[in-house]
Amino acid sequence: MSFTLAIVGRPNVGKSTLFNRLVGKRLALVDDQPGVTRDLREGAARLADLRFTVIDTAGLEEVTDDSLQGRMRRLTERAVDMADICLFMVDARVGITPSDLVFADILRKRSAHVILAANKAEGKAADAGVIEAYSLGLGEPIRLSAEHGEGLNDLYTHLMPLADAYAEKARDDAPEVDVDVGEEDDDEVRVPTRSRPLQVAVVGRPNAGKSTLINQILKEDRLLTGPEAGITRDAISLTTEWAADFDSEPVPMRIFDTAGMRKKAKVQEKLEKLSVSDGLRAVKFAEVVVVLLDAEIPFEQQDLRIADLAEREGRAVVVAVNKWDIEEDRQAKLKELKESFERLLPQLRGAPLITVSAKTGRGLDRLHQAIMRAYEMWNRRVSTAQLNRWLSGMLEAHPPPAPQGKRIKLRYMTQAKTRPPGFVVMCSHPDKVPDSYSRYLVNGLRIDFDMPGTPIRLWMRGQSDANPYKGRKKAAPSKLRKHIGSNRNDGSR
Ligand code: GDP
Ligand code: GDP
Repeated sequence: MSFTLAIVGRPNVGKSTLFNRLVGKRLALVDDQPGVTRDLREGAARLADLRFTVIDTAGLEEVTDDSLQGRMRRLTERAVDMADICLFMVDARVGITPSDLVFADILRKRSAHVILAANKAEGKAADAGVIEAYSLGLGEPIRLSAEHGEGLNDLYTHLMPLADAYAEKARDDAPEVDVDVGEEDDDEVRVPTRSRPLQVAVVGRPNAGKSTLINQILKEDRLLTGPEAGITRDAISLTTEWAADFDSEPVPMRIFDTAGMRKKAKVQEKLEKLSVSDGLRAVKFAEVVVVLLDAEIPFEQQDLRIADLAEREGRAVVVAVNKWDIEEDRQAKLKELKESFERLLPQLRGAPLITVSAKTGRGLDRLHQAIMRAYEMWNRRVSTAQLNRWLSGMLEAHPPPAPQGKRIKLRYMTQAKTRPPGFVVMCSHPDKVPDSYSRYLVNGLRIDFDMPGTPIRLWMRGQSDANPYKGRKKAAPSKLRKHIGSNRNDGSR
């Protein structure tokens, strides 16, 4: 998804009709909370070769009381804040109404990109309304007929250059992960800089305290002079420099702010769940994912899902238990939390579990340290010489099994990538190495090279001893082959 488009306008102009046309049956979000009418709908849209997220302010038509104006305004502001681009729709058959002027005003003030569309524009009856739409001062209106699918070409022409710009921005903003390393990068330590800050996502269920935590972090920003100085806030992330305490160097960080995004307008915030797409977006964005738990209700399904997702995506994970200030029996609680952690998230074994109070700021220094340490491990590089010394010790302690009497030979090991650390073991029968043996090696790596909790990848690869060229041709992924090749040379130096 390259960008988010919000369709806004007063009721009955045809917003839903366009939404349905763009989304088809691919509705991304269905609310499963009973009794809640979602007032914003979100879907995965397609227009020719463009793929984007579309938001519709549905549900407005049911509002008939006096608060219509206020609700309409809040809802629209919320949609506008969530979106990169707004499609402002008016009804060409009716012409411009006072309500339309209210919307135009909101958009002028809040939206970076507005596309004006005069809908129901099929036929001559719409001509006057289309011309009237110019008077809004939002540029030339697109003649659209959502119902008949006319004018979509024009919409495409307007969206395309913006889509390109957003795709480029997304590329620039994306954290660089899965980096292949060669031996030559051995000494390179990666330090977050202002131009490439450490990317952190704070995720967790609603009310876990994400906003409170982020605000507390911003308060500790030492460069902060005015209320907003030093902070750049866009729809999804904010950049800050966070120091663990007054003696330490501030670290440039970019924090993905799912809570803030949804809270700019306070409508219905408490009911809103972290949607799947938000979670995914946050995880993809992050180098380090902070899973924030509420001490009262820790390790809920939603928390577990996002932590698992982060591990599978190869991100460094820090678990922070919030609201520790109101905990009475801290020792017992901590014990219980650690047990649940091991039982429910075995895939994150060894990852840090930190207790914090976002409200008072206690424990934030430890959170900072845990983030930095997780980040450092995630970037960890172990030399080939060290690895192979280690491997022979491991083999001696526990030889690999011998299926059908043929012992599996593990010959050689090298680190193929960092962020997260990934290792390749060259062996005689890669497909016969049992998972338990791989786990033995991964756990050993964790302990002996001090990498608890970071996702570690391990691949078994076959390569014939007798004829290395034959083996090389067989090795599937070219990137790995390249590194194995260069590391072999390094190893024999
Ligand atoms: P919303 O309240 O803005 O979401 O509006 P809807 O999408 O529910 O549409 C309101 C009414 O306008 C419905 O009866 C639609 O069938 C009709 N409508 C939508 N688009 C068009 C169009 O392009 N031309 C005409 N003539 N009617 C349309
Ligand atoms: P979000 O939905 O995850 O962004 O949660 P909020 O930051 O809005 O916090 C939800 C509620 O929990 C608010 O009433 C906060 O004041 C409260 N809260 C957040 N952090 C703490 C904390 O460390 N201690 C206590 N006692 N309350 C907290």
